[in-house]
Amino acid sequence: MTDCLFCKIAAGEIPSTRVWEDDLCVAFLDIAPVVPGHALVVPKAHHRAFTEAPDDLLAHLVSVARRIAAAQKSVLGASGVNLISNDGESAGQTVPHLHVHVIPQCPDDRHVWNWEGRPYPDSSVPAGLAARLSAALR
Ligand code: 5GP
Ligand code: ZN
Repeated sequence: MTDCLFCKIAAGEIPSTRVWEDDLCVAFLDIAPVVPGHALVVPKAHHRAFTEAPDDLLAHLVSVARRIAAAQKSVLGASGVNLISNDGESAGQTVPHLHVHVIPQCPDDRHVWNWEGRPYPDSSVPAGLAARLSAALR
């Protein structure tokens, strides 16, 4: 796509701090990291978001993300890693080109990633939601 930031970064038209490149994707450091070493895995082909990309490409991006996460643990001393792909503006996606965040959790970074879960009001609610979802997945 002509006017897409991550298409331009993937093509090398805009500089980035690359950590990985292969035929299908690039990975580079986020310009405004949650934690130093926070990386983005980005396909070279333009897909708007996670739910709009083919399974084989997603499998490849996750495989690259896993390798980067392992390197963040072995080289940066991360004790854990968060993998996130925001899909859609309401989910916090600000760059409309599919990407997977690989965010290291390091002992001294003081970053906390937990959220507060809210229990269902009664058991009929999750049962109804699961029925609708599983029917759609059949
Ligand atoms: P989103 O909010 O879409 O899930 O994530 C987009 C990410 O891209 C943000 O974390 C943001 O800091 C990062 N970002 C935005 N513009 C640039 C850029 O020009 N270069 C790099 N390396 N990262 C960027
Ligand atoms: Zn793009």
